[in-house]
Amino acid sequence: MREYDSPMYRTALAQLDETARLLSLDQGLHERLRHPKRAFIVSVPTQMDDKTTRVFTGYRVQHNLTLGPCKGGVRYHEDVTLGEVAALAMWMSWKCALMGLPYGGAKGGIAVRPWELSANELENMTRRYTSEIAPFIGPDMDIPAPDLGTDEQTMAWMMDTYSILRGYTVHGVVTSKPLLLGGSLLRREATGRGAVYVFERACRAFGWEPSGMRAVVQGFGNVGSVAAEALAALGAKVVAVGDRTGAVRNEKGLDIPALAAHAQENGGAVKGFPGGEGMSGDELLLQPCDLLVPAALGHVVTAENAGRISCRALLECANGPTSPEADAILGERRIAVLPDILANAGGVTVSYFEWVQDTEHYFWEAEEVDSRLRKIMTRAFEEVRALAEAKKVSLRLASLMLGVSRVAEGKRLRGLYP
Ligand code: NAD
Repeated sequence: MREYDSPMYRTALAQLDETARLLSLDQGLHERLRHPKRAFIVSVPTQMDDKTTRVFTGYRVQHNLTLGPCKGGVRYHEDVTLGEVAALAMWMSWKCALMGLPYGGAKGGIAVRPWELSANELENMTRRYTSEIAPFIGPDMDIPAPDLGTDEQTMAWMMDTYSILRGYTVHGVVTSKPLLLGGSLLRREATGRGAVYVFERACRAFGWEPSGMRAVVQGFGNVGSVAAEALAALGAKVVAVGDRTGAVRNEKGLDIPALAAHAQENGGAVKGFPGGEGMSGDELLLQPCDLLVPAALGHVVTAENAGRISCRALLECANGPTSPEADAILGERRIAVLPDILANAGGVTVSYFEWVQDTEHYFWEAEEVDSRLRKIMTRAFEEVRALAEAKKVSLRLASLMLGVSRVAEGKRLRGLYP
């Protein structure tokens, strides 16, 4: 499909095709899964602070709604394209099915450098984007959430805009909202924390000892900062952290709360942190460690660097951080990969809890959210591990086999209209 062609979409299709082969999937079902159900491209005219108007390009792709409404984040980044969003939407489909959530997969985004916009400009852009996609989203149709470059404030603007258009408050149209507006306790922490629950389970399964393990984390936003904190709480030493602005390292282990405080005071940037020495972002992924945690962009582990990465395991908090060529190299080098659709699924899992709470107008205690999250992450890991062992495939392929087969079975049961 020319419209979606991009490195990320090619990766997503290559994974699906390999999975379909392993599952001996019916040709018609396989073909249907290769195509997103719907894709929207919208112009987002935005008034800037200097009173000029800029028109950004926004996207929303709904890959499937076979098992329920679509679910997926909204990304603000300069590299956002239709193809990238389509790949991310497809991964959401497999992820939701893998976790047993009653959702299809979607993703959205705007091609923009959000760090260059003022809060007022971000609000104008977000509200206009929301109004352009409003006919296609809603609690029963498609429920956005934050992703790279967006946060709880973005969700508050989206929820407000959608509610104004409807004429009443619609809590369930987005998730990861501020608590006061129908958010869930622990949603912000859910992705990083969920990934570390998977890692803990993997340690038990594979005989790793987390205490004293050296970890390197790329990305110190919502996901990376929480994952780093949770790893440190397990006794791991986070020896290097990097972001868009650069990287810092400390052989004795970085003080993560101090780094988080530094980032908060410096527009989210780790650069200049006094508790470590500065380093270029390019060197980060090649730092020797036990656990490498990509928690920023896609396709950062590639054929070019996979042979030189020096770690025992990869905890994929980002979506699509490893190219298929790199995956093969890591496999040959016997580096374990805890794959994205499993490792970072804590976010959508607690988003699901938030949507349930919004629907019932009844909100849960933090302990309840946390224990349900741990239970679901653990169950998914054990299912994936059992299948990987039984079929002698990687954890990535086992995760995909579970996710893809469930969506395919839903399509088979529902049939093909007309
Ligand atoms: P965020 O915007 O909060 O943080 C992104 C971080 O990545 C920032 O520290 C930023 O500086 C860094 N970054 C950006 N460009 C970089 C570059 N070129 N090199 C190194 N670092 C760079 O985003 P987030 O919500 O933490 O999302 C991070 C990743 O996790 C994304 O791949 C996203 O799709 C994935 N993810 C997020 C969630 C969620 O709940 N937020 C859920 C599942 C997966």
